[in-house]
Amino acid sequence: MVNKAKKLSIGKQLIENLKGENIKDYLRLITSDPHIAGTQNNKKVGEKILNLWKKNGLENVHFVEYEVLLSYPDFDNPNHISIVNRDGKILYKSNGTSPVIFPKEQGAPNAGIQWVAYSAPGENEGEIVYCHYGRKEDFEKLKKLGIKVAGNIAMIRYSHGFRGDKVGFAQKFGAIGVILFSDPAEVAQEGTDKAHVYPNAEWMPKGGVQRGSVLHQFGDPLTPLTPAKPDLYKSRTIEEAKAAGILPKIPVLPLSYKDAYEILVRLSGNLVPFEWQGGLNFTYHLGPGFHESGTKVKLSVKAKYEKREIRNIVGYIYGKEEPDKYVILGNHYDAWVYGSIDPNSGTSTLAEVARAMTQTMNETGWRPSRTIMFCNWDAEEYGLIGSTEFVEEFEKQLNERAVVYLNVDLISANNSFDAATIPSLYHVVVDVAKRIPNPLESEIIKGRKTIYDTWIKTFPSNFPSHPEFPQMNIPAGGSDHTAFLNFVGIPVVDFRYHNASWSHGYEYPLYHSLYETKFLNEHIFDTNNLAVHRAVGQFWAELARVFADSPIIPVNITFYAETLLNVYVKDLIKDFEPLENGYSEAKDAKKQLSNLIKNCEEFLKQSHQLENEIQKIQKPNSKDNFRSRILSNRILSVERCFINVYIRPENPSKRHLLYSVSDKDLYSSNVMSGVYDAIDNFINSKTDKNKLAAGKELAKQISYIQAAVQCAINTIKEYI
Ligand code: GLU
Ligand code: CA
Ligand code: ZN
Ligand code: ZN
Repeated sequence: MVNKAKKLSIGKQLIENLKGENIKDYLRLITSDPHIAGTQNNKKVGEKILNLWKKNGLENVHFVEYEVLLSYPDFDNPNHISIVNRDGKILYKSNGTSPVIFPKEQGAPNAGIQWVAYSAPGENEGEIVYCHYGRKEDFEKLKKLGIKVAGNIAMIRYSHGFRGDKVGFAQKFGAIGVILFSDPAEVAQEGTDKAHVYPNAEWMPKGGVQRGSVLHQFGDPLTPLTPAKPDLYKSRTIEEAKAAGILPKIPVLPLSYKDAYEILVRLSGNLVPFEWQGGLNFTYHLGPGFHESGTKVKLSVKAKYEKREIRNIVGYIYGKEEPDKYVILGNHYDAWVYGSIDPNSGTSTLAEVARAMTQTMNETGWRPSRTIMFCNWDAEEYGLIGSTEFVEEFEKQLNERAVVYLNVDLISANNSFDAATIPSLYHVVVDVAKRIPNPLESEIIKGRKTIYDTWIKTFPSNFPSHPEFPQMNIPAGGSDHTAFLNFVGIPVVDFRYHNASWSHGYEYPLYHSLYETKFLNEHIFDTNNLAVHRAVGQFWAELARVFADSPIIPVNITFYAETLLNVYVKDLIKDFEPLENGYSEAKDAKKQLSNLIKNCEEFLKQSHQLENEIQKIQKPNSKDNFRSRILSNRILSVERCFINVYIRPENPSKRHLLYSVSDKDLYSSNVMSGVYDAIDNFINSKTDKNKLAAGKELAKQISYIQAAVQCAINTIKEYI
């Protein structure tokens, strides 16, 4: 051991110290029972993690509690649908639970119950309209085709968007209830026969469903902007949350393709547009109405809201030189059922990152220069609640102290590493990925030695100036990094191993199903001692170490400025073209755009100056720690410039001027949405008066970005 410690660098030793066997043990420990947020079982899982983290050497391990509004079904009376004919005869009734395949690991009482969180309770009856993916454009298409959704039940396919947005659009278009179903075209692409689905493959078996939340915001529904601490006032009521479109007013339930078949095969009306056809073996109809006239579907949904305690877990490795700067690692631990992929593939990996770090410290005497903070969030599944409340409570401290937030929600397949992050972190993320050995022998033989090699092959570069950068998305909603980036302006990386060809958002075929138990990880997609989980842990640990130990924080401001000027502003100039001719109302906006270009050019110039300074202190004999800290603080503050708390105080996800979560789909992100919304508004304004007002708004939105860029310039300059 001692010999090895001498030979290897800290980073290499840390990477070696991570062990798949430990991840496997932790996964078994954490996923032995279903553990929904707010339940006794999840409380027990929280305690197990707390003890594990202590055992694994973390310091100051503790719970951070909140009291939030959650939602539960009646576990003894599962939600179901009935198809009832004109005479009241029940033609088909679903039983509302998924069949247990491995009783030993899936057999807890009521584990198979099918439901979605925050549905309204109800016994609504009506005709069915098939609404494809339930996106805004799908409802608009139905309207064009003359199909009325209002007064009917919307039957929507999972995939291509967040389920809460689907329900939101259905409600807006007047639906009286929603059925969310998994179509074989998404979840059983190789056929629905036994040989091609779980447990023989990773595809969804007949009776499986995707559970999930249909909450239409993030954070506790009753305490917008303030932490949900029991002694603080809850400023919003359930009724107000319903009126604001945050909690749905209509019943919603999920169906398997076995049950969906029974409805869809009976549906009459026009044939669906060609692209709307799913994978069941008949031609889909739009409805409303059934071949046997007078037939209706009844939704029976029992649901209750409950205020419950949730508990985040926090632990540390204190930093030696800069204890007040935090490199934050996060994952959630609550799950819809057993959660062996979502999220406990990540949870068990995080516990092993902690163990490997403290082992490395013991072996070498190393201690990170900055503090490494470990967070395990509760109630993520309900709407990123644990992490959002935490950010609301500690916003000011995080603003001062957080260096970066590194999120892993899940590891769901062995196809490729993938990361969503912001341009200033591309360099460091790519550098670290090049150091992590490829976990798959079959790929190493082909010459792909690191996780980077498969990553760049799977997601070829779309950066002409940087062909070595794989495609990386801007982080959107969908996991716990959201509040850190969009609320406080902390740079984030959200990464995983998965199969990108399945994923439209967060999906893999068995996503949020009863079948997410250890068999899936160990025997279906990560069969060599959880080597893929281990590789994700190695990346996590090494990236954290680099952020904790690099004298200058590895956030690349120059590339940020370049992206702003050469990508975002360049796109904006193109999108201004329709406004060029004959629109005197856009005069002010055009002026602001040319000012913005100048600001971005100045930002780029100043970032080069900053780089010169960095190079000076990085010369071999320069050990100017004090100067490094000064420059690092300036680098850190740049991202914070893009937060403006005044523009949309009611919508914290819109505080970041460059990056926001899409209004149409929580899983997608937008760049400069304030400006683009204003452009749309301008183009769609019909009267002179409205155009004038829209032009003013557009000028204002561009000017907000200018002010942020000016802030960034002032931040990196030595003197303002
Ligand atoms: N990750 C969860 C999901 O995708 C929650 C996302 C959210 O509600 O914001 O269902
Ligand atoms: Ca809150
Ligand atoms: Zn998750
Ligand atoms: Zn989830």
